[in-house]
Amino acid sequence: MTRRLCVAFDLDDTLYKERDFVMSGRSAVAEAFSSKAGKSSEELNMIMNAADNAFNSLLALPGIKTNNIGIQEILQVYRCHEPELTLPEESRDVLHRLCKDNVYIGIITDGRRLTQWNKIKALGLDKIVAQQNIVVSEEFGADKKSPKPFGYMMEHCPAEKYVYVGDNPAKDFFQARKLGWTTVMLRDDDGVNVHSQNLNDISVEFQPDYIIDNISDLTNKIIPCLQH
Ligand SMILES: [Mg+2]
Repeated sequence: MTRRLCVAFDLDDTLYKERDFVMSGRSAVAEAFSSKAGKSSEELNMIMNAADNAFNSLLALPGIKTNNIGIQEILQVYRCHEPELTLPEESRDVLHRLCKDNVYIGIITDGRRLTQWNKIKALGLDKIVAQQNIVVSEEFGADKKSPKPFGYMMEHCPAEKYVYVGDNPAKDFFQARKLGWTTVMLRDDDGVNVHSQNLNDISVEFQPDYIIDNISDLTNKIIPCLQH
């Protein structure tokens, strides 16, 4: 059945702050390698958080070197750990309001299947968004540089209008705009995002239609505008 609207969201730095996942991952790594490094996990966390490159700072430790621990082992723990994450209240409210308004909701996220699904489950998003409307690039076989994830949503969620909400102008809006979607960028309000939002470096076809400061502005300001 065709609905009025379908809104798909990016995951990292859109529905929650990816920094939270990074910190959770570092804690998992600290616990996993604490005894081999000969340091407490608190110490390892401090070392990683103080360094420009967290994992290089770990690899430089004598205990890690003598135990022949390499970057692949560290990344394995980081990428596969079950993170401790909380869905921000504003994100939860927006999703619930959209559900109540009979809007199709989806997630289109680039990344590894296991890592992204661990995040989705930790945030409880699998309880809010229908599984067939969650597109993880590795699992799906195409990322946001391709029109395919957006085309998939259009096929499975027939709607009069489509909206994509993301944070990364390098790849979040170009394909969606080409397919006629309305694109919305959530501004990095506290400067901890993983990807730059410097729109001066980005050509016009990669720019979003709207920029919002808070995800609540999506349901408070943008969506009411689209109805007219
Ligand atoms: Mg993102």
